[in-house]
Amino acid sequence: MKNFDLHVHSDYSDGLMTIGQIIALCQQKKIASVAITDHDTVDQVLPAQKIGRRAGVRVLAGAEISVSHKGQRWHLLAYHFNPRHRALRAELSVQQEARRERLEKLKKIALDLGFLLNGQALGRHRSVSRIHLARLLWQDPTNYNLCCQFGLKGPGQILEKIFSRPPAVADRYRTDMKKAIDLVHAAGGLAVLAHPIASSHNNFALLEKMARSAGRLELDGLEVFSGRQKLIPTLSLYNLAKQYGLLITAGSDFYGTNRQRYSQLGQW
Ligand SMILES: [Zn+2]
Repeated sequence: MKNFDLHVHSDYSDGLMTIGQIIALCQQKKIASVAITDHDTVDQVLPAQKIGRRAGVRVLAGAEISVSHKGQRWHLLAYHFNPRHRALRAELSVQQEARRERLEKLKKIALDLGFLLNGQALGRHRSVSRIHLARLLWQDPTNYNLCCQFGLKGPGQILEKIFSRPPAVADRYRTDMKKAIDLVHAAGGLAVLAHPIASSHNNFALLEKMARSAGRLELDGLEVFSGRQKLIPTLSLYNLAKQYGLLITAGSDFYGTNRQRYSQLGQW
């Protein structure tokens, strides 16, 4: 068990635990420092830091920003920035709005397929994801028969088989990577490429290209150690970060203890 974790999700985005529960778990697991890196929101930072101060857990400002670069989707981890920075917040609110719009489209597709949605609110999450809607559909017992009919055995499968295939593959707005890096820097933070192996779908040539352009993009680092990765690709990534003089970070990509995957806080 490591004593820090720089990649953790709360229910401000698509994690399953509150910031209070995460910090309590950090205490329990003797994790001294944590960054709660919710998707496209920084609203969790100040309340989490307040709880962290009382609990003796250091909470570093964090966020995971959806970005695009040359037609490819990536995730950018932002650290140690001012969570009140106006331009950064403004850009993230554009992404949050795009997420809400996409969810409305997906709701319509689900209803057209015959799913029932009894009006439960999705609004309590600052940053809504497709998985929120999938969980809502799964939890509603009136959808049981339809889920069986489609062979769906959980919200993850609704996401994969219904919301990741036509006609539901509607993409949404993502911030240009260079713009996102510049905003993170303007807010006083550092920008790190999240789980590069997973984002590139194991495309090492693409990762090498990305590492080569890191200087021009002013990308600060690579998340070399990730709860998502195996040892061999991690070692290659480590060498790449060293070769190009990039910072090395580590995180579990934790989403909650009650999940099958990404459920081990502090393990990466
Ligand atoms: Zn993540």
